[in-house]
Amino acid sequence: MKLKDLGEFGLIERFSEKYFSESLSDGFLGIGDDCAVIPALGGDFLVSTDLLTENVHFIKDEIGGEMLGKKSLAVNLSDLAASGATPVASFLSIAIPPETDTEFLDLFFKGYAFWSKKFNCPLLGGDTTKSAGGLTINVTVIGKAKNKKLRSGAKPGDVICVTGFLGDSAAGLEFVIDPKKKRDKNAEYFISRHHNPEPRISEGKFLADFQSVHAMMDISDGISSDLKHIMKASEVSAVVELDKLPLSPLMTECYSLRDAYSFATSGGEDYELLLTVDSKKFAEISEKFEKKFSKPLYAIGTITEKKSTEIVFLENSFSVNGFSNGFDHFTA
Ligand code: ADP
Ligand code: MG
Repeated sequence: MKLKDLGEFGLIERFSEKYFSESLSDGFLGIGDDCAVIPALGGDFLVSTDLLTENVHFIKDEIGGEMLGKKSLAVNLSDLAASGATPVASFLSIAIPPETDTEFLDLFFKGYAFWSKKFNCPLLGGDTTKSAGGLTINVTVIGKAKNKKLRSGAKPGDVICVTGFLGDSAAGLEFVIDPKKKRDKNAEYFISRHHNPEPRISEGKFLADFQSVHAMMDISDGISSDLKHIMKASEVSAVVELDKLPLSPLMTECYSLRDAYSFATSGGEDYELLLTVDSKKFAEISEKFEKKFSKPLYAIGTITEKKSTEIVFLENSFSVNGFSNGFDHFTA
C-alpha cells in the first residue's frame, strides 16, 4: 500500500496503535487531540507542534517573510486556543536553504514576534539547520489551562458552533496556487485571510470556562474533516446545516452558494474554533460571547446519537451530498 492510499490520519492511527498504544500515566493525554496534556500542579500543560513546509503549506514569494513568521506561530497558537489554554512559551526549528535572503529572515522573525508579544508567549529555543530543499519550519507551543477542552466530550443534543467566517482562507488559496487566476480587488481579502490567520486564544479561554462547552477543537482541515474528529473522539454523529454556515460578506458577493459551501466545509485553514455546547445553555453562552467579542457564536448544527461516521449535511432541511471530505495531506 502507498501512503497516498492510507492517508494522513490512517498513518497516524497505524503507527500510534502499533507502537504507542500503552496507557499513559494518570492525567496525561497523547496523540489524537489538538494538544497533548501533561498534568501539573495549578493546571495542566498543553503542548502542540505543527510543521510548515515550502510549496506544501506556503509559496515563499506569495506569503513573504513577515506573514510566514506570523502564520507559523499563529497556527500553533490556534491549537492552544482549541484547548482553552493560555500560551506559555514557544520553540522554533527551521531548516533554511543557504541562498535565502537575510531580509526575508528578518521579516520572518518580525512576524513571529508579533503574536509572541501579543499573547505573551516568549520564544525559548529551537534549532537551526541548512536545508538542501526548501524552507521548513516547525513550531512547538506550550500553554497552561485550568479548564481544558478536548475533542471528546460532545453529547447528543449539543449545538455545534463556530467562532467566525468559514471558507475565506480556502478561496484565498485558489489565488495563491494558480498564478494565472485573475486577481480583482477582492482577491487581496481572501489571500490575506489565507496568509494571516488570527489565533482565537481569547475566545478559547472564554469558552473553556463554561462547563456546558463539552468539546472544542480548531478548524485546520475544514469542518468536513475536523468535525469527524469530534464525532470519533466523542462517539457521536452530527448534522450540519449548510445555510447556517457563517460566510463573509465578500464570500457571498463573489461566489455561488455552492462554491461558498464547498470552501466553508472542505477548504480548511480557517483557524476558527469548532465547539459543541449543551443546548440548554447555548442562548446564555452565545449572548455572553457576543457581548464580549462583538460577534456572534454561530450555531451550525446538532450532535446526534452515534449512527454514521459521515456528517449529515442539510440544505433547507434536505440532505445533500458532496461536502464530506476535508483536507488530507496524502489523499489530496
Ligand atoms: P492539528 O490539525 O490539530 O494540528 P493533526 O491533525 O495534525 O492535529 O494531528 C492529529 C493528532 O495526531 C494530534 O494529536 C497530533 O499531535 C498527532 N500527530 C500527528 N502527526 C504525528 C506524528 N508524526 N507523531 C506523533 N503524533 C502525531
Ligand atoms: Mg488543531
